[in-house]
Amino acid sequence: MRIIADYDRCEGHGLCVDQAPEVFDLDDDGELVHHLEDQDVPAALEEAAGRAVDSCPVAALRRA
Ligand code: SF4
Repeated sequence: MRIIADYDRCEGHGLCVDQAPEVFDLDDDGELVHHLEDQDVPAALEEAAGRAVDSCPVAALRRA
C-alpha cells in the first residue's frame, strides 16, 4: 500500500500526524511532510497509516 497526499487539499489540521507520526509531519510552516512519498508503507505501519487516511477531515490522503 502507498499513501498519496494531495498537498493542495491539505489544510494542515495534523490529525494524520497524530495517527501516524512515523509517516506524516508538519513542517515549521505548517505544511504537510509525507515521509513515505512514492514508497510502499511498511507492513508494521499500515494500520497507523490507514487510520491517518481515515482521520483526514478534508480527504487529502488516499490509499493507492
Ligand atoms: S489530516 Fe489531512 S488536512 Fe490535516 S495535515 Fe493531515 S493530510 Fe493535511
